Amino acid sequence: MIDSHVHLDHPDFDPDRETVVGRALAAGVCALVTLGTDGRTSQRAVELAEWFQPVYAAVGIHPTQAHLVGDADRAVVATLVGHPKVVAVGECGLDYERGDCPREVQEDTLRWHVRLSRACGKPLVVHNRGAHLHLLRILEEEGAIGVVMHMFTGPAEYAEACAARGYWISVGGPVTYPKAEELRRAVARIPDELLLVETDSPFAAPHPRRGRRNEPGYLPLVVEAVATARGQESGAVADRTAENARRCFGLAR
Ligand SMILES: [Zn+2]
Repeated sequence: MIDSHVHLDHPDFDPDRETVVGRALAAGVCALVTLGTDGRTSQRAVELAEWFQPVYAAVGIHPTQAHLVGDADRAVVATLVGHPKVVAVGECGLDYERGDCPREVQEDTLRWHVRLSRACGKPLVVHNRGAHLHLLRILEEEGAIGVVMHMFTGPAEYAEACAARGYWISVGGPVTYPKAEELRRAVARIPDELLLVETDSPFAAPHPRRGRRNEPGYLPLVVEAVATARGQESGAVADRTAENARRCFGLAR
C-alpha cells in the first residue's frame, strides 16, 4: 500500500515520528507522500524525505495559508521542487469553507502552483473544500496535468467529472464513516486506473479511531472500506492503488 497524503511534519508526531513510520511499514504501507503547506513545512517535508527512506515529499502552499505567506515562501517552494525526493507540487487548492483567506488570493496561488507543476513536470496535489466547479474551471484554464484530487468527498457526479479529465482521485478516512453512504456510492464510480488512497494523517482518522490522531499505519482501514464500497477484494485495491501511486508520483519499485 502507498499512502498518497500525510502531514508527517505535524507537531502531533513530534513525540514518536520514527515509531509512526515503523508502524506504517509493519502495517504494509511501503511508501508515503508527506506534503508541505507553506515554505517552512515544505522544507521540513523534504528533510523528512531525506531522513526516512520510504517517505517522499510534495511542496506547496495550502489555500488556507495563502494570504499569510509572501514571495519568500513561493521562492522556497520553487527551489525545493527540483529535489530528487520531491514527487509532486502541493498541497494547493481552494477552500471556500474554512479560514479567512480571500478567494482571489487562493485562486492566484493555485494558478501559480499549476504553472510550477507544468514547468517541472511533477503532479499537482489539490485540496478542495466547497469549490468543486470553480476548481475544475481554473485547472482547465491553466492546462493542469497530473492532477490528484486529495481527500475526495463526492458526489458521484464529481468523481465522473474528475475521471473524464484524467485526474487521480484519492480517498481517505471519511469512506469508513458509518453514515458516509453517499461517499461510498461515489467511490464505487472511480475508475480502477485513477484510484489512490490516503490517510491525511494526523487528520481524518478512519472509523473506529475517528476523533483521535490519525497515522499512516491505519491505511488498511481505508483500503478495506474502499474495497467494500467497490465490491472488490482489499488485496486487489491495495495492489492497484499502490501501482497507481507509483505511476502518478513516478516512484521506483
Ligand atoms: Zn493535506
